[in-house]
Amino acid sequence: MVKFLDLYKINEQYRAEIDAAVKGVIDSGWYLLGKANEEFCKNFANYCGTKYCVGVANGLDALNLIIKAYGFGTDDEIIVPANTYIASILSVSQNGCTPVLVEPDINTYNINPDLIEEKITSKTKAIMVVHLYGQAANIDEILELAKKYNLKVIEDSAQAHGAFSGSKRTGNLGDASGFSFYPGKNLGALGDAGAVTTNNKDLYEKIKAIANYGSKEKYHNIYKGVNSRLDEIQAAVLNVKLKYLDNDNNKRREISKYYRKNIKNPNIILPQVKNEDGHVWHVFAVRAERRDDLKKYLENNDIQTLIHYPIAPHKQQAYKEWNSLSYPITEQIHKTILSLPISPAMEKSEVEKTIDVINGWK
Ligand SMILES: *Cc1c(COP(=O)(O)O)cnc(C)c1O
Repeated sequence: MVKFLDLYKINEQYRAEIDAAVKGVIDSGWYLLGKANEEFCKNFANYCGTKYCVGVANGLDALNLIIKAYGFGTDDEIIVPANTYIASILSVSQNGCTPVLVEPDINTYNINPDLIEEKITSKTKAIMVVHLYGQAANIDEILELAKKYNLKVIEDSAQAHGAFSGSKRTGNLGDASGFSFYPGKNLGALGDAGAVTTNNKDLYEKIKAIANYGSKEKYHNIYKGVNSRLDEIQAAVLNVKLKYLDNDNNKRREISKYYRKNIKNPNIILPQVKNEDGHVWHVFAVRAERRDDLKKYLENNDIQTLIHYPIAPHKQQAYKEWNSLSYPITEQIHKTILSLPISPAMEKSEVEKTIDVINGWK
């Protein structure tokens, strides 16, 4: 069986170090907002190239906290990709703002910058970009628009730890960025975890406070905050795994190259890459008109796949008010997309088997 993602095997590579790190936290007797958190935030900011990083409870909270810290709410609009994991859009809704959906570029699956300007109104406060599947969005055009209309640029980097746009990493491309360390992400914890990166000191301090009940000093609450903290055990695990992130991403890149070189099937559309060295391949997604048939065929041949994602956000029951709207490119992607196995722990023989089986699909 070729697993879609073997989390056990991924973490087993670093098992001795992870065990020691977890033991260190238990032995310390200090479990929240301690040394491991501080060290990880310093290292992760350094890795992304930003001045600051706040550890938070998960990726959705990271995005939520950025919007909250800017004070955006009712009557404010935030532009988001129509083609994304629903968390990006939920973070906007949860703050009472209106998400304004923009269609993607069919070739990159990321938000199409040419379609943003027509959606900007006097209520627009920010553009949220998502670096979907591990490829940085077209940030230069988006930054230009943001400058022209005085908007904030919020990155959802939950699928793009370590990805580059030019010489800068994701997390350092806009005003602030949310990261998720959900176990299956390129940098994954052993549970829920997330972070915000930014170069803005005031925003950093505000988010840090809001995430800890709105206090900078214990029992002095200056904001109506929330509880969203990165715990010491997860921070210690992430500190171990961060050292290997570039190496892990390189392995993903090699598998992707091998797939793209060797999958030759006229019924399958391979992903297009803008920046070969900058893509971190959180997901290797192909498209096929008869996607469900392809998925079943691969399953029958012992190859696990997933669909990222089967239902577009505007077609979800949670967003009933949008169900009758039409975003044809987003819908086409959701009907035809399929994610093949890719991970730093995948064996060459598994990659080769996947290719052989796919090439035999008619
Ligand atoms: C995973 C993910 C999130 C949310 O992260 P959680 O840690 O699960 O809250 C947000 N946006 C995108 C694009 C994601 O893939």
